[in-house]
Amino acid sequence: MSAIVAGVDLGGTSVKVALADQDGQLLTHSSFPTQSHREPEVILRQICDQVTALRTQLGCTSITALGLGAPGLVEISSGTTRFLPNFPGHWQGVRVAEFLRRELSCSVRVLNDARAATLGELRFGHGREFPGVTMAWFGLGTGVGGGIVIDGRLRIGPLGAAGELGHQTVVPDGVRCGCGNIGCLETVASGPAVTAAGVRLLLSGQAPALHRIVEGRSERVCPATMLQAADEDTAVRETLTSTAELLGIAAANVVSVLHPDLIVLGGGLAEIGNLLTETVQRVIRDRVGMFPVDNVHVRLSALGQRAGLVGAIALALEESELL
Ligand SMILES: [Zn+2]
Repeated sequence: MSAIVAGVDLGGTSVKVALADQDGQLLTHSSFPTQSHREPEVILRQICDQVTALRTQLGCTSITALGLGAPGLVEISSGTTRFLPNFPGHWQGVRVAEFLRRELSCSVRVLNDARAATLGELRFGHGREFPGVTMAWFGLGTGVGGGIVIDGRLRIGPLGAAGELGHQTVVPDGVRCGCGNIGCLETVASGPAVTAAGVRLLLSGQAPALHRIVEGRSERVCPATMLQAADEDTAVRETLTSTAELLGIAAANVVSVLHPDLIVLGGGLAEIGNLLTETVQRVIRDRVGMFPVDNVHVRLSALGQRAGLVGAIALALEESELL
């Protein structure tokens, strides 16, 4: 049997695990709820058990490498987590790579999850269409992550932190972000930020179509239900458009700095689709005047909700020098 690698997307809500062949084809995958209140070792043990179960299911005796995407700051050289904001204790100093390497007898690489997703998009998504691509990836999820590819290579910087596109200021007098800054892109273009704006419109009687679609239940408000209401509810449409315009400003800033071939939008907010891509493209045209932007393409992620997992697989393939 050819080389088999494992990918792990460690999220605050669920842990996704997959095995893939050396071409990056997913062979089998599963997920389990993240018991983030428990000790890191318990969760790492669960990951090992899951990888072993999938391996047994495939009848394969060993895996070559494992890639893991983690939601926060990771010390790349040792595969040690430094700060995972959504986990108790923030997983400071947890030697993730060492634990998994010892238990699974394979090489292990750990990277921030948004950077891993960017790598996935580069290797198995839209990045493949552009040789030597320069690309920015926006992950519009619970937070807003990102990643930067220059001339076909993921650039992560000395701390693995390069590409924090969600923490650029887009509203100078905005609200405080989890990172401590005021008015970051994350405060307006994350799933929770957009949903909160939708709930406000619902409860203030400005969104009758949204009210009908969610049957008056605020917990059903999300970017997808807001999009359904946007044709009828002017206020909902304006909210989604102004969110996309602020994302467009962030993207235009990146375009001015990098002149990329490609801007890719992933994460849950990407569900609002064309409204997002068309608005971002328009704002880039409006705000970048120093050079032509006709060849700067704005796309929704080709990998959808699997971007993080596919990225972890790509990471494992790079670690085992199969990519
Ligand atoms: Zn921030």
